[in-house]
Amino acid sequence: MLDYKYVIIGGGLAAGRACDGIRKVDVEGTVALVTDEPHPPYQRPPLSKGYLVGKDGLDKVYLAGRKHYAENGIDVLTGVRATKVDADEHRVILGDGRVLAYGKLLLATGGQAKRLRIPGGNLARVFTLRRIEDAQAIRDAAKSGKRAMVLGGSFIGSEVAASLTRLGIEVTMVFPESRLLARVVPGELSALLHKKYEGHGIQIMPGIKPISLGGDEMVEWVELDNGQTVPVDLVVMGVGIALNTTLAQDAELDVDNEGAVMVNSSLQTSNPHIYAAGDIAAWPSFTFGKRLHVEHWDVARGQGLRAGRNMAGEDKEYTAIPYFFSDLFDFGFEVWGDLTIWNQTVLRGTLESGSFAVFYFSQAKIVGVLAVDRPDEERKPMQALIRARVLYEGLAARLQEEAVDLGEVIG
Ligand code: FAD
Repeated sequence: MLDYKYVIIGGGLAAGRACDGIRKVDVEGTVALVTDEPHPPYQRPPLSKGYLVGKDGLDKVYLAGRKHYAENGIDVLTGVRATKVDADEHRVILGDGRVLAYGKLLLATGGQAKRLRIPGGNLARVFTLRRIEDAQAIRDAAKSGKRAMVLGGSFIGSEVAASLTRLGIEVTMVFPESRLLARVVPGELSALLHKKYEGHGIQIMPGIKPISLGGDEMVEWVELDNGQTVPVDLVVMGVGIALNTTLAQDAELDVDNEGAVMVNSSLQTSNPHIYAAGDIAAWPSFTFGKRLHVEHWDVARGQGLRAGRNMAGEDKEYTAIPYFFSDLFDFGFEVWGDLTIWNQTVLRGTLESGSFAVFYFSQAKIVGVLAVDRPDEERKPMQALIRARVLYEGLAARLQEEAVDLGEVIG
């Protein structure tokens, strides 16, 4: 049995950042990171963007090279699964039979891409996108293909459609919602995106589901529920993720209704020796007065670091407001807050000018802000407005008025 002060399970952003967090507080304690992927810890955003189009290499994907971990005394065990956490004995059992004893354990096991369960869903050239190898396989298929269908109208689908178009592929997007990014952007912004996408030659088919995929070993067509059959050379499904929480559940850690691992504000699970961070974690947000579970880069980044520091002896709360970004062609935007429920928006600036912000409200209280090309000095006030949970009434008109400094609005 190998004995470690800290064991981290996961090979994504949260896991990699936890290594940094531990070393900022404890320079000597033994650390092992276990990942079932053949890579050192890496981040996924480039996989649908620069890496997919071949602009960025693995250096933009990996958080650091293997040398960095060796130099910091961190054992990175790649290509091996953790199959069981024995919480009573403080042990992790690996698929190859090795057993790691831990003082503190971090679960940063993230998620895996869902695949639609429809006939033909497992044909060759039908892809999902979560791992480096997925991006490589899509890029390879794009070299010989001409027509792609992207199933899903959320972030991954929208980004993949943009990237495939850049690779010279004719793209059709099919999704059941009535418009692109329906859950996170207001109608007028979806309309702008539709126009942009169509301008790049992408065919958008909202309100439609695929019924089956067909072909002789490789996918050749997609049958849709509007009666159409569309010929394709490849299909990419961007239809959400399933959380990897089997280890947590088997260790009898508390999980919420969505299957996310419940942590306290220090990112400890219901077992004080085990922490969880990133996509799998549901943490209590003081700003929103409820538990949040967010599958985005910045949360994995911040929580990984905080969990590492806390495991190594600090005990500070994770209080960040969720943040994410996306790049769709030349249109990049950032979002702060919690956009799971909203029913009112206020626009600052104009869509036509390309510089605007959308303020989101739920039950008359602000829940989030989406910003496109706004001045840097607005970033802090935007977050402060969310932290203050300002009210719609009396404020909406001032937010709209570009002559009014956002800093003044928050006062
Ligand atoms: P993951 O990155 O999923 O890492 C989990 C790791 O644990 C994986 O390596 C997995 O193989 C490993 N693992 C799981 N179980 C075991 C086990 N039992 N034993 C060993 N290893 C195990 N977010 C944004 O905010 N902006 C973006 O633009 C953006 N773009 C994205 C593009 C793509 C293509 C994808 C897939 C995601 C994107 N995201 C984006 C989301 C963001 O990447 C995730 O929120 C982030 O990856 C979560 O990190 P994580 O470390 O929690 O989990």
